[in-house]
Amino acid sequence: MSIHPDATAVVRAISPDEPVILNRPHAARRAARFFVEKFPGKVLYAVKANPSADLLEILHDAGVTHYDVASIAEVRLVRETLGNEPVLCFMHPVKTERAIAEAYHQHGCRTFSLDSHEELEKIVRATSKDGEPATDLRLCVRLRVSSEYSELSLAAKFGVDLIDAPALLQAVRQRADWLGVCFHVGSQAMTPFAYVQGLERVRAAIAEASVVIDMIDVGGGFPSIYPGMEPPPLEDYFGVIHRHFYELPIAYNAELWCEPGRALCAEYNSLVVRVEKRRGNELFINDGAYGALFDAAHIGWRFPVRRVGGPENDAEAEGFSFYGPTCDDADFMEGPFQLPADMRAGDYIEIGMLGAYGAAMKTGFNGFGDGPVETVADEPMASLYRGDRDDPRISDNVVSLR
Ligand SMILES: *Cc1c(COP(=O)(O)O)cnc(C)c1O
Repeated sequence: MSIHPDATAVVRAISPDEPVILNRPHAARRAARFFVEKFPGKVLYAVKANPSADLLEILHDAGVTHYDVASIAEVRLVRETLGNEPVLCFMHPVKTERAIAEAYHQHGCRTFSLDSHEELEKIVRATSKDGEPATDLRLCVRLRVSSEYSELSLAAKFGVDLIDAPALLQAVRQRADWLGVCFHVGSQAMTPFAYVQGLERVRAAIAEASVVIDMIDVGGGFPSIYPGMEPPPLEDYFGVIHRHFYELPIAYNAELWCEPGRALCAEYNSLVVRVEKRRGNELFINDGAYGALFDAAHIGWRFPVRRVGGPENDAEAEGFSFYGPTCDDADFMEGPFQLPADMRAGDYIEIGMLGAYGAAMKTGFNGFGDGPVETVADEPMASLYRGDRDDPRISDNVVSLR
């Protein structure tokens, strides 16, 4: 496999007609090493953020041993890609009985999350053998918390309310060899205090329940960096979480877990698209809402952009919006995306920070979807892990690369 220096070299080499996904293995490895070395507990990768096999192998090589899987397809994928050694944790609170049974009996999965008595009964039924209930279940009660500090809510759908949590914790304690509490503050949490309010709810729930707690899982939500969204250093998040974890009334040997998705993979991919037509400040490009740019279209997420392979001296920047290649008006990305004022048909654009919920979301709708994947060696368009951000608190943001 050849490695290109950067997007410009890819465009020169293949003048692609299709959108091209660029992989940056070094960036994913650096993010994984950062979490493994600096998070004061265990790091699970949330596979749904980007399930590509090449990424799973990079994270595993970098020391990520636990995987948060949300479907039986993800269970099988991790087993097929990484073998039997990784620890699988089935952290979707609503599963089918068949998926639970296959995960437990065939794939060695012991950790399951839940937020209701019905799901507890389901897990107990699906994991029993010859009428005997399993004695090695590691169960994790998902608590509902607020998403108010995050860009994307995950609060409404899952999680048991505080009022019902104590009874559920007591019931699960009867069935579990090992009992955890988990929550998710929402994706792209822009302040560490998102986790403080989550941990305060955990405290209230376990104080009321008076049960022994073996594990606290603060979930995902760790941010990446995008135009207009510059989070504080991740060390601040880790420090705040660690302090508040220590103050909880839990077993002395209780574990602390986290489940980052976005923060581990956002820097892994960018995308090269071609401008097929210009109309005023609207650019018609060859990827869009049904491709890797779902978030740009549907929730107005702004990604960093730059022209590649264009004139040497870029004209002054202007705000552009994008139309994707399919035939409906919904395939529209408002931006504004800052690009040189003289953009024209035939120019290529690199769109950065698409490793999380981007490259993974491509569909084949309308006959668009297949494109080449290339590996590049340059830096992602932004990074939380490079140690060169302006924030003066960042000084030791450097980790070893294996
Ligand atoms: C999606 C998800 C994650 C990952 O969230 P990010 O915001 O990408 O870090 C972690 N845990 C659970 C249960 C999830 O559903």
